[in-house]
Amino acid sequence: MNYLEKRILEDGIVIDEKILKIDSFLNHQIDPKVIKEITSEFFDYFKYRVITKVLTIEASGIAPAIMMAAHLQVPMLFAKKSVPSTLSTDDKYSTLVHSFTKNKTSEVIISKEYLSPDDKVLIIDDFLANGEACLGLVDLVNQAGGEVAGIGICVEKSFQPGRKRLEEAGHDVFSISRIASLEGNKVTFVDE
Ligand code: 5GP
Repeated sequence: MNYLEKRILEDGIVIDEKILKIDSFLNHQIDPKVIKEITSEFFDYFKYRVITKVLTIEASGIAPAIMMAAHLQVPMLFAKKSVPSTLSTDDKYSTLVHSFTKNKTSEVIISKEYLSPDDKVLIIDDFLANGEACLGLVDLVNQAGGEVAGIGICVEKSFQPGRKRLEEAGHDVFSISRIASLEGNKVTFVDE
């Protein structure tokens, strides 16, 4: 069992059979030790890939993404959930993402200035559920003509279809913790 899985068992709160709350160390308060351990696992897995940029979506992906970008010595870019008035339609790539936790669809954007056809992009996010956030990020990379070098997830809920959808689209998904079930108010990991 890795460090993230231990912390999930110690400090995670099962809200219902589909939602896990880890606000005490990743989604609200952030424990740097958790980010450090997560980054070391991501780095071990992705270190031999050519990666020019790390991409995430605000807000909870930013902490693991920036630390990973620092390790890889490349910039980190985060997709914004609100469109800045300073950015015209011609200057942005835009996609729609349906939020699993908020049950609403919103526009997510990045400035065209920061992604190019030369970019090899590592996508990082905190949770993988239905794959909407990651598929939205993949769409933004595709619009820029860039390439997705891989997808790194902190907590994958393997009982939801996100991994399958991303793999079917041809992407390599590496998740640090894979949750098989949240049933009975209990976290069960894959292969336990
Ligand atoms: P997806 O887009 O894969 O359906 O869901 C991933 C996004 O929804 C993540 O960026 C995360 O913010 C949020 N999310 C999905 N499931 C959970 C969960 O169980 N707990 C928390 N805290 N966030 C979740």
